[in-house]
Amino acid sequence: MGVRIGVLDLQGDVSEHLLAFREALALAGRDRGSSVVPIRSAGEITGCDGLAVPGGESTTIARMVDRKGMRKPILEFPGGIFATCAGLILLASAVEDDRRFSPLGILDVTVRRNAFGRQRESFEQDLRFQGEDEPFHAVFIRAPVITRTGARVRILARIPRGIVAVAQERHLGVAFHPELSRDRRLHLKFLEGLQV
Ligand code: GLN
Repeated sequence: MGVRIGVLDLQGDVSEHLLAFREALALAGRDRGSSVVPIRSAGEITGCDGLAVPGGESTTIARMVDRKGMRKPILEFPGGIFATCAGLILLASAVEDDRRFSPLGILDVTVRRNAFGRQRESFEQDLRFQGEDEPFHAVFIRAPVITRTGARVRILARIPRGIVAVAQERHLGVAFHPELSRDRRLHLKFLEGLQV
């Protein structure tokens, strides 16, 4: 059955996510009848089965979400949300030591922004995911880490500095940029979790 995926198109890594989802749908043999669309206005959110909130700059994305009246439709969105990097910060319940915006509180996690400091602004690391034999080669760019998870949250991957991938119901939250890897397993996992 066709699935409709929206990628929040306000700022950040939008085109890479659009491409990654199109590739994942093709790999899953589900591209016919499915669509992957950029979301620029609040009205476009309903009608999607899944929504991706890309990496970028969380303060900018948060400001635009509010300016475009998207906070409520995202909070009420019944589908799954794939929150990556800045998107993870936006969907968190709390952001440590940062009061620049109020996060949406969809994922029951606390995050720390720019957790790797200036020396390691960006790096790549192989991650072990539970139940996966092959590691996932992850690209971290001024990445946050998750410092607390609530009872409904399942930890999928961690590195010594903290938790970097979680699942909560149909949602996935990752601290890195899965759309920048060639590996489409996380986009596929998100699509499977939608149960559409
Ligand atoms: N450090 C950025 C922020 O605070 C996130 C970086 C990213 O999305 N690559 O929003």
